[in-house]
Amino acid sequence: MRLQDKEHRHPPFDVAPGLGHMLVKLGVAEPFVNPKSLPKSANTRWGITEPRLAAGQTVGPGVSYSCGSCLQSGVIGGTYASFKFCHCGICEPVPEHIKTAFRPLAVKFYVTQEPAPRSLRDKAADYPAHALAR
Ligand SMILES: [Zn+2]
Repeated sequence: MRLQDKEHRHPPFDVAPGLGHMLVKLGVAEPFVNPKSLPKSANTRWGITEPRLAAGQTVGPGVSYSCGSCLQSGVIGGTYASFKFCHCGICEPVPEHIKTAFRPLAVKFYVTQEPAPRSLRDKAADYPAHALAR
């Protein structure tokens, strides 16, 4: 088995398993763990993007996410509440402080947008029948 001395003063070394277990028990050595074999730790950054014009269309505000370890990134809009950023072996929901900051922007943009144009029939329904008869 491969061991590393406790103070990491010497390079890792191989010993017979029986001797290795005894050295670990005595506290003079520990099993060697190759740092390259450890999973990458997530380095996530969350942010908020303002509404903007892109290719002649208004793009709504969004929650942006990126990871400095695996370099995945993106922006999510109206479905931010249930979104999970899955990367580096984990799935992270949008942090509460980002949700709190984004909610008013999302409501302003996605809920209070201009209503869809109404048809003539719908507009006519606003007037009493006797007003149209004249
Ligand atoms: Zn990642």
